[in-house]
Amino acid sequence: MCDTSGYNTQAIGRFAPSPTGRMHLGNIMTAVLSWLSVKSRGGRWILRIEDLDPQRSRLEHVKLIEDDLLWLGLEWDEGGLDDLGPSGPYTQSRRYNYYEEALRRLTSTGQTYPCTCTRADLLATQAPHQSDGRRVYTGSCRPLRLGGYLPDSESEARQRVPHTVRLYMPQGKIEFTDRLYGRQQVDLSKECGDFVLRRADGAWSYQLAVVVDDAMMGVTEVVRGHDLLLSAAQQIYLYRLLGYREPEFAHVPLVCNSEGRRLSKRDASLSMESLRRAYTPEQLLGIVGSLAGLCTDYSPITLTRLLEVFSWERLRSVPIVTVPEYKGCK
Ligand code: GLU
Repeated sequence: MCDTSGYNTQAIGRFAPSPTGRMHLGNIMTAVLSWLSVKSRGGRWILRIEDLDPQRSRLEHVKLIEDDLLWLGLEWDEGGLDDLGPSGPYTQSRRYNYYEEALRRLTSTGQTYPCTCTRADLLATQAPHQSDGRRVYTGSCRPLRLGGYLPDSESEARQRVPHTVRLYMPQGKIEFTDRLYGRQQVDLSKECGDFVLRRADGAWSYQLAVVVDDAMMGVTEVVRGHDLLLSAAQQIYLYRLLGYREPEFAHVPLVCNSEGRRLSKRDASLSMESLRRAYTPEQLLGIVGSLAGLCTDYSPITLTRLLEVFSWERLRSVPIVTVPEYKGCK
């Protein structure tokens, strides 16, 4: 896709969309900022397809994501449907053997256990965007050996029936520094509890898959929406258990609609379908640059120029930005 000659192998960034619909302004903001960040360091940008949810993921959405990125000039050095690059496959549904292996390693530490509670299970493969609300697992299937209440023999018996695999979360704070939001301290035992690694129906959890993929693909910086800030703590915990090197995390403001809600398919005027009809790539980059705090107004700007003005210091660090004046695109 890009001419990759002379790239700096030290910096590797990625954009990891779930192909469950057409991208909107918020997805584009994340894509542009992750591209700018890694390119400002002379690095490589990966496009990874996160299709863990078989019910909602569609090939035609992947094609549209690729087309929308290219329309904006965001070319990836690795990944995409063509599986460019040395770390493929770049589509999660084709990487289950790697998740299996990571689960085996985690299980061998004695930190996982079978869980037959099914209610919380259902949402487990989706990236838990904070704006969607989170549930803290109550620990009812946690065995005695991990400080729970369930006799170890009963816990063992659950291995023989369909079960979710959970990871035990001890009390204590995970500390990390987010590039934009600074020092974070998260006690995962209070924020999410023992979290799911694999669902009872065999579906892999977002948290495990994303860590395995980012680590195996050599990702050095993770740039994504602010609603995944808490997930970084879960992921850092997994990085440490699996002995992988942690990337740098940078969460960027969420783009919300005029009512302050995270964009969804209902905000049709901010989907790429409408945005491409209403704007040129430079006009849209001007809007993204301005919402991000890189530009002083909405004037059209090229990607090359945006790269020249990009710096983390200039980025707006409010958790969300709203787009009141784009209730409908002209
Ligand atoms: N696939 C996730 C999503 O589309 C993003 C995951 C990530 O960037 O870590 O919400």
